[in-house]
Amino acid sequence: MKTKQALFIATSVFILMLYLPGCKTDGFSNEEVELISSGKTNQIMELYTINEKSDSLLLRQKARKIKKKNIGSETLELLKKRMFASMTDTLNPGVGIAAPQVGLSVRMIYVQRFDKPGDPFEIYYNPEITEYSDSINSGSEGCLSVPGYQGKVDRSQNITVNYLDSTGKKRTENINGFTAVIFQHELDHINGVLYFDRIFNGFEALTKTEE
Ligand code: ZN
Repeated sequence: MKTKQALFIATSVFILMLYLPGCKTDGFSNEEVELISSGKTNQIMELYTINEKSDSLLLRQKARKIKKKNIGSETLELLKKRMFASMTDTLNPGVGIAAPQVGLSVRMIYVQRFDKPGDPFEIYYNPEITEYSDSINSGSEGCLSVPGYQGKVDRSQNITVNYLDSTGKKRTENINGFTAVIFQHELDHINGVLYFDRIFNGFEALTKTEE
C-alpha cells in the first residue's frame, strides 16, 4: 500500500513537472497571456513595426492556428477587444489588423467590411483564401506596421475565403472589391508577408506618406 502510494505521488509529481513548463492558457503561453493582459479591454496594444528588429522577426513568422475550443475564451476575447481598440485608435486608424501586428503570432484578423451596411469591423479566425480571381486591381496600400509609407499593390478583385467566425462556426464567403484587398493584406500578415513584398523592388519602391 505504502509503496503504491509513494509510486502514485512520484508519478503525479513527474507528470506535473512535464506539464507545467508548457502550460498554456486558452492556447497562449504565459508570456503571451502577460502581453494580452497588460491592459484593459479598450486599451490599445503597442504596434509591432518593421522599425524594430525583434518586432520585424515576429512579423515575418507564419502564425499558428487558433483552436476552435479557445474561441470565446477569456484570453482570446480580451485580445480581440484590444486589437479592435488598436485598429480604431483615432490617432492612427486602420481598416484592418492582424494579431502579429500586436505581437501575437496567431491566425486572427480584423477586417472592416466596406461591402456591408455601416462598414462594420469583423473578426476572422484561421482565415484561408481558397480562390483568387484572375482579374486584378492595382491600389495604394499602407500598413500600421510600416509607418509613414505607401505603395501600389496588385490584388485579386474577387476571392473566396474560409474561416471560423466569432462564434467558432465554419463559413465560406465570396468577397469583392476593396474589402477583398483588406482580406488579402491581413491574410498576408498571418503568413509573415508584408505588402511591399508584392511590389517590384519591395520596400525601396514605397513612397512616403504626407504627415
Ligand atoms: Zn498591414
